[in-house]
Amino acid sequence: MKILKFGGKSLSNGDGINKVVTIITDKVNQGEQIAIVVSARGNATDELEEILDIASKNGDYKPLFEDFKKYQQDDYQEVDLSEEFNVLEKLFEGVSLIGDYSNKIKDQILSKGELLSAKLLTAILVENGINARFADTRELIKTDSKFGDAQPLEQISKKNVINYFKQNNGTTVNIVTGFIGSNNNNDTTTLGRNGSNYTASLIANYLNADELQNYTHVDGIYTANPDLVLDAKKIDHLTFNEANELANFGATILHAKTIIPLLEKNIPLRILNTFNHENKGTLITSNSNKEGIKTLSVLENVSLVNLEGRGLLGKTGVDARIFRVMGDNDISVSIISQGSSERGIGLVVAADKATKAMIELEKEFENDFYSKDVNKITVTDNVSVISIIGQDLSTFHKPYTALIKNKIVPILFNNTVTGKNVSLVVKKSQLNKALNVIHGEIFGVSKKINIAIFGHGLVGGTLINQILESAATIEKRKDIKLNVFAIANSSNVLLNKNGVTPNWKNEIQNNGFSYTIDDVIAYANEHHLENLIAIDNTASATFVENYIPLAESSFDLISSNKVANTLSYSFYKKLRKVLADNQKSYLYETNVGAGLPLIDTIKLLHLSGENITKIKGVFSGTLSYLFNNFSAKDASFSEILKEAIDNGYTEPDPREDLCGNDVGRKLLILARELDLQNEFEEVDIQNLIPEHLREGDVSDFLNKLTEFDPIYAKIKEEQKPNHVLRYIGELSGDLQNDKGNLEVKLVSVPSDTALGGLKGSDSFFEIYTESYGDRPIVIQGAGAGSAVTARGVFGDILRLSDKG
Ligand code: ASP
Ligand code: MG
Repeated sequence: MKILKFGGKSLSNGDGINKVVTIITDKVNQGEQIAIVVSARGNATDELEEILDIASKNGDYKPLFEDFKKYQQDDYQEVDLSEEFNVLEKLFEGVSLIGDYSNKIKDQILSKGELLSAKLLTAILVENGINARFADTRELIKTDSKFGDAQPLEQISKKNVINYFKQNNGTTVNIVTGFIGSNNNNDTTTLGRNGSNYTASLIANYLNADELQNYTHVDGIYTANPDLVLDAKKIDHLTFNEANELANFGATILHAKTIIPLLEKNIPLRILNTFNHENKGTLITSNSNKEGIKTLSVLENVSLVNLEGRGLLGKTGVDARIFRVMGDNDISVSIISQGSSERGIGLVVAADKATKAMIELEKEFENDFYSKDVNKITVTDNVSVISIIGQDLSTFHKPYTALIKNKIVPILFNNTVTGKNVSLVVKKSQLNKALNVIHGEIFGVSKKINIAIFGHGLVGGTLINQILESAATIEKRKDIKLNVFAIANSSNVLLNKNGVTPNWKNEIQNNGFSYTIDDVIAYANEHHLENLIAIDNTASATFVENYIPLAESSFDLISSNKVANTLSYSFYKKLRKVLADNQKSYLYETNVGAGLPLIDTIKLLHLSGENITKIKGVFSGTLSYLFNNFSAKDASFSEILKEAIDNGYTEPDPREDLCGNDVGRKLLILARELDLQNEFEEVDIQNLIPEHLREGDVSDFLNKLTEFDPIYAKIKEEQKPNHVLRYIGELSGDLQNDKGNLEVKLVSVPSDTALGGLKGSDSFFEIYTESYGDRPIVIQGAGAGSAVTARGVFGDILRLSDKG
C-alpha cells in the first residue's frame, strides 16, 4: 500500500483538483493499493483563520465567509457540504458575539478545511467510478489536549487506524483528512500548521506502507530555492539524515516530526509534483549510494543578538545565564557563535523576538554592566542565515573566497560537528547574491560571469559577437557561463540581466537609454549579479574616471583602452591600491601588441624574479607596415603612407600614428610593469612628422604628404649597405632603479637581423633578461586589428574567470 498526500495548492480549484483526480484514477486503474491524505483546499486554513480573526473583532466577516464557501463548493453543487458550512456559520456567529475565542474553538473551525476537502474529493472520485470512502481522522487519531499543536497518542491511534483500514481495505480508496484529530473528550484538535504531512507519515507508519508520496507543486527538493537561484538543480535521491538537516532549516514538508515515523519503519518518502506528475521527483530513503548531497537552505526573518563583554573571560556560567533568559522567554536560538576568548557571544533569533531578547539580556546582565564585565548588547536586524548542508570545512574556503571576491563578508559563520553543515549569517540585502555565488561554487555548475562592455565600436562590437558565439562551447568546456548584461557607448546603455542577444545592435537602438556609471552599478546590485567584469573598449580619456567606482563596487576590470595606464604614475598607483583593497583585478593584455601574450609574459618573468634588462621592438602595426614597405620597395614615403591610409591601417588622422605617442604609451605601459615609475613626459619620442605639418586640420595635412618624401629619401639613402629602417620603442638603463630610459625612435638595422627581417604589419618584441643573456625572448605576430584585439580581451575575460 502506498500513501499519497496532496497539499492545499494541489487540491485547488481547476487544474489542481482535476490533476489529483487523474493521478488517483490512474493508480487505481493500474491496480495500485493506495490511501489518500488531504490538506484543506487552496488557502482554506489561512482564510478560516482570517475570518475568525475578523469575527472576533466584531468585523464584517460575512463577505469573506461567502467567498470561502463559494470556493470550497466550486462547480460541485451536488456535493453536500452544508454540515460543515452550517457549523462554521454558527461558530463564527458565536465568536462575533462574544468577541473572543479559545484555541479549542479555533481547532474546530480550522478542522473544517480538511473535512470539506476530503468530502469533496471523495464525492468527485465516486462520481468517476472510484470506490472512494471519506475517512474522518477525528475518529482515528487520538491526541492530547494541546489545541493548535496536539500530540497524537501512539498506541490508540495506531490501533484505530489499523482496524479502520482492515474493515475498509480491498478496492476501497480511503480519503483521509490530514491535520486533525480529537482528544479523549472527542473535542477536535489539530496537529499544528502543515500538519497534514505529519498525519500522512503517521498513517504510513501505522500501516507499514511501501512508500509515502507527497504531492506538492514543485518537482522535488532542489540544491537551493529555484526562485532565488536560477541554476538550482533537482536532487533525485537523498537520505533521511540529509533531509533532516533540511527540515531543521525550514523546509515545511520535511519537518523533523514528519520524518521520524517514516524513519522508524524505513518507509521511503517521495516528493512529487501534482502539476508535473510524470516527473520522478525526489526520493528520500534511509540509505544512499553516493557520498552525500549538498544543498543550500535559508532562514529569513532573523536577527543577530550580540553580547559583548570584556570581563567575561574565564567567568563561568555566563552562557547558562544567557540560555536561561532565552528559555524563560520562549525565544528559540537557531545559531550561536562564540570565540575562544569568550569575550562575546552572537545568537541568531527570530526577528520579532530580537528586541525582547536584548531587553531580557540587559535585565539579566544589569550588574555586569555596572562592573563593566559586559559592555554592549546589540541587535542587528535584517540578516539571513544560509546553511550549506553537506559542506565540511576542508573545502569551505571555496565558497568563502567566492563570497569575499563578490564583496559579501559574512557577519558570522559556524559549523556543526556532526552532519557537515556550515552556516553563514549575511545581510539580508546580500542574501540572493550570496546564494547564487555559493551555489555556483559548490555545485561546480557553471559559474556565471556577468560582463558589462563599454564601447561597442570595432573592437567592442567584435568582442560582443565573439562572446555570444563561443558562450555555449565555453560553458561546456570550462563550466563558465559568460553573461553580457550591459552594453554601452558614451551616450546609451542597454541592460539585460539575462544577457544580450545576437540582436544587440537593434536592442540598443530600441531599448538603450542615457546613463551614468552609477546606473550600471545599481542595476548589477539590484539584480544580485555576481562575478562582475567591466570592460573598457573605448578610447576615451574620461571613461577611465569610472574605473575606481567600478572596482569599489566589486567589478574586475579589463581594458583595451590604454589611457588608465599612461596617466600620471600617482593615478596608476592609486588605481592599483583601490583594486588591492577591494580584491579586484585589472587586465589589459591588449594594451600592447593586441592579442599577443606580451604583458602576461613580462608580468610572469618579473614576478618570478627574472631580471629584465631591456625591451625593444616594433610596437605599432601601422608604423611596422610603413617602414617594412618603405625599406623594401622602390617607392616614395608618401606613396607607401597613402597605401596605408587607403587600407585603413592608420588612424583617421595619420598624425596620431606618426607622432609616436602611441608607441610611447605602449612603452610606458611595459616599463610600469617592471615597477618603473616613469611619467609619459619622460618618454623620449622622435616625432616622424615634419614640424610645419604638425598643426592644422586633417584634410590639409593629407594634401601635403609628399612633403615627407625628401626627408625620408635622404634618411634611407644615408644608411649603411644592407640596412633597413625600423621605428622602435626601447626600454633600457638600470631597470633596478626607479626609472628607466624610454626611447621611441627611427633606427637603421642590418637587414639580416630578426628586427631587420620584419614583414607586413607585424609587431615585434625582444625581451632581454639576465638568464637568457644576449638571446632575447622574441614575441612576434599580428599586433593590431579589431579581431585579434577582441580575442585578446576575450583572453583576459577567461583569465579572470579562471581565478578564485
Ligand atoms: N491545512 C493545514 C495548514 O494549512 C494543514 C496542512 O495543510 O498541512 O496548515
Ligand atoms: Mg598584448
